[in-house]
Amino acid sequence: MALNVVMLGPPGAGKGTQAERFARTHGVPKISTGDILRDSVNTGTELGRLARKTMDAGELVGDDVMIGIVGERLERPDTRAGFVLDGFPRTVPQATALDTIMKGRGPLVVVDIVVPEDVLLRRLAARRICGTCGVNALIEWTAACGICGGALVTRTDDGVEIVRGRLKVYHHSTRPIVEFYSGRPTFRVIDGNQPPDVVTSSMDRAICEASSAHGSTKEVRL
Ligand code: AMP
Repeated sequence: MALNVVMLGPPGAGKGTQAERFARTHGVPKISTGDILRDSVNTGTELGRLARKTMDAGELVGDDVMIGIVGERLERPDTRAGFVLDGFPRTVPQATALDTIMKGRGPLVVVDIVVPEDVLLRRLAARRICGTCGVNALIEWTAACGICGGALVTRTDDGVEIVRGRLKVYHHSTRPIVEFYSGRPTFRVIDGNQPPDVVTSSMDRAICEASSAHGSTKEVRL
């Protein structure tokens, strides 16, 4: 049965780290729209050129562009056994479009990672990524990326003022999708203010339980 997962939560909730771990453990692709956009910026594609200013300002890239990117990505055969979406959907129109894309593809488990705002601000101020390959730095990497050796840098959108703006955008545009999903039998809330390994195991349990409990359903349950 396919493990189709959406990770919700504000910037700094740990979506990327947890999505990465879940994807690795269960052998499904992690699809991070932020990573796809950052790749496009780094390689200088047309999409990257268009998205750069919006991302640096901490605002949202247009729904049509994002729905197109994710729709195409979910057509690839590696998503047939499932996927973890990190950073999409971020608006109600994106969530509605995802329901359409998911028709006939099994249950969609939605996990909302909840973390208090003061903790988010502290985490984002400390966050580093690799300036070369873009991965989130692990705590034990003090100077260089443990994968490619690149220098660790602050994300261009993790400055204090931009972070405050991103949290505002989250409350205004993204929080309403929690409401959109919360009545569904496959919606789960996870306490993200715990050590990463504890979050990983509670998430794993919640997703597998929700997915198997509703796995006989042919279509997305609304
Ligand atoms: P993230 O790495 O998920 O924090 O995303 C970084 C930035 O990419 C966001 O602040 C947005 O500018 C843009 N972005 C990523 N995913 C989306 C999305 N689903 N809709 C609109 N903009 C997005």
